[in-house]
Amino acid sequence: METKTKKFKRDILNWYNNNKRDYSWRETNDPWKILLLETISQQTQLDRADIYFKLFIEEFPNPATMASSSLKKVLILWSGLGYNNRAKRLYESSKILSKNGFDELYPNFEVLPGVGPYTNNAILSFAYGEKVITRDVNVDRVFSRYFGLNDVENFVHNNKKPLLNGVSSRDLNQAIMDFGSMICKTKNPLCSTCVLEKNCEKNIVKIKKTQETFSGSNRELRGALLKLLLNENVASLETIQKNLKTDKVKLLKAVGTLEKDGLITIKKNNLVEINS
Ligand code: SF4
Repeated sequence: METKTKKFKRDILNWYNNNKRDYSWRETNDPWKILLLETISQQTQLDRADIYFKLFIEEFPNPATMASSSLKKVLILWSGLGYNNRAKRLYESSKILSKNGFDELYPNFEVLPGVGPYTNNAILSFAYGEKVITRDVNVDRVFSRYFGLNDVENFVHNNKKPLLNGVSSRDLNQAIMDFGSMICKTKNPLCSTCVLEKNCEKNIVKIKKTQETFSGSNRELRGALLKLLLNENVASLETIQKNLKTDKVKLLKAVGTLEKDGLITIKKNNLVEINS
């Protein structure tokens, strides 16, 4: 009898063959392109990430070109994506990679700043064809709902072999990611037209919204402050406060966290400078 895992793989891969989204990086096995894409696409929709990916790969086709550039240039190209410390970590990674290539770091890419288990597995799967599951929120949601799980980590750990047996890990991982964002969505999953519906446990848990509201947040202020400094290079706290129309306590918090992330430097006379 066909197991539930086999049915899952068959149905989701069939769906993927007919519905996969075409992106320039989809078929690449260049680990630099994969690192770039995975860094850019965190908390960013794929269509938007694709636009930035093309800009970045044109400017920085390999780690050495980014490493020999400046942090400021990377941040300018990154403008609009938010979470600027990701750009900084990418820049730091390029410095490491220009000395030690991916093959030398293989299989432990987590030594690179900003690379966690997900990106590590994405590089292993998409660049090296390793039999690993790239678990992100989309993938966890699909597994949890379809197989009726509370503990996805344990499930993946125990079922790695049957899940990946006889299939390309790249195809399976990309299929589940696409399926999670297009069909088995966080809110309002499309169960009535879903090709997995017949065998799905529909373990749908209502998710509480915990994310900080962007408007008026420290994140918003950090983004505005960095944008101002990318234009001005250096500005006084007074000028920044006036330009951004914010109160001093919020401004000092934003300045403090940006300095802690290594994106700016607070100098004498209340001057703030962007790091280059
Ligand atoms: S039936 Fe619904 S919950 Fe199950 S996989 Fe399809 S969309 Fe997700």
